[in-house]
Amino acid sequence: MYLNKHDNILKRGITDIKSYVPGRSIDEIALDRGLDPSTIIKLGSNENPLGPSKKAVEAVMSQLGDMYIYPSADAIELVTALSSYTGIDTDSIVASGPGMDGLIDGLLRLVLEPGDNVIITTPTFSYYEIASRANGAIPIFVKRDSNFNIDINEIRSSISDKTKFIFLCSPNNPSGNTIPEDDIKIILESTESLVFVDEAYIEFADRDVSHLLKDYDNLVIGRTFSKAFGLAGLRIGYGLMPPWLKSEYMKVSTPFNVSSVAIAGGIAALNDKSHLNRSQEMVQTGRKFLQHELPFKVYDSQANFVLVDVYPYTASEVSEHLLNHGIIVRDCTSFRDAGDSLIRVTVGTNEQNKKLVTTFRSFLGN
Ligand SMILES: *Cc1c(COP(=O)(O)O)cnc(C)c1O
Repeated sequence: MYLNKHDNILKRGITDIKSYVPGRSIDEIALDRGLDPSTIIKLGSNENPLGPSKKAVEAVMSQLGDMYIYPSADAIELVTALSSYTGIDTDSIVASGPGMDGLIDGLLRLVLEPGDNVIITTPTFSYYEIASRANGAIPIFVKRDSNFNIDINEIRSSISDKTKFIFLCSPNNPSGNTIPEDDIKIILESTESLVFVDEAYIEFADRDVSHLLKDYDNLVIGRTFSKAFGLAGLRIGYGLMPPWLKSEYMKVSTPFNVSSVAIAGGIAALNDKSHLNRSQEMVQTGRKFLQHELPFKVYDSQANFVLVDVYPYTASEVSEHLLNHGIIVRDCTSFRDAGDSLIRVTVGTNEQNKKLVTTFRSFLGN
């Protein structure tokens, strides 16, 4: 007989986890609204609207015939290419799959015991909470202020012997602002736990903290190929961390977690500087345009998206209007502590940005 007692099967706390809410897909919206998929503009998941580097596509294609062979267990070819790209030694770099999400899960698996605490500064990327709970931790949430700056004092007073991991996202998803380096240093010096700085959007920002790695043995930086490099579907991330941590991490990480096609695509993407430059320039121009032209409050951003506050309207009603016109954006209502009037919009091509502005304006014209 089938008994509904899964609590005895699952680890404690798993059934309480709220599922990750991904951005909407083109196919889903086309079906739902009766729209032609080719007319839909997807600005909800911070992907690169220019697509991947052509060189990365070629490298992936030429690798396909070898897919019956295991890749290197530690993706050393990609790690070596990342070392030239970042200027950081290979013994401080870990390549990860699936994406940076895989890195986060791997790190938490390494440090957390049931009942440990992690600190999360909200509103922020929601996978931190899911991965922490799945690994047995109790998240402590420290809310950012009204401009989404982190609260250093509150973070410091939340640190205890149970704190094992502190998540800092810079530039922050969904607000787009960076954390001042001095604040990161204060946190690094206030704890013996790992401090994870998520730099998923660092290619669009004017600063990064990788130069701090040599001074702090509890700093870990997460990066990804999913955003600026336009390779979200290949699922590649990487971590920058002190050598002692890399050695321990490699003992427990899933072998072969970066596929052979991902390794080939990633290396080619790193070598295609002109595609990266084009992507960065498009974002810089587009951010300014959206900031000026959108008919609502737009926060300053160091990422490839902007956060729009549509108060006194709700994010849900404005997103609905945009969806009905074939534009997918991210309603941030599901982000913890984000309220119900924030929408995150990926910076698109000039043409996409113009259509976005027109459609936002037509909401007010209704
Ligand atoms: C997109 C994103 C990631 C995840 O990247 P993947 O490499 O695709 O797993 C991590 N952190 C933040 C803040 C992101 O926005």
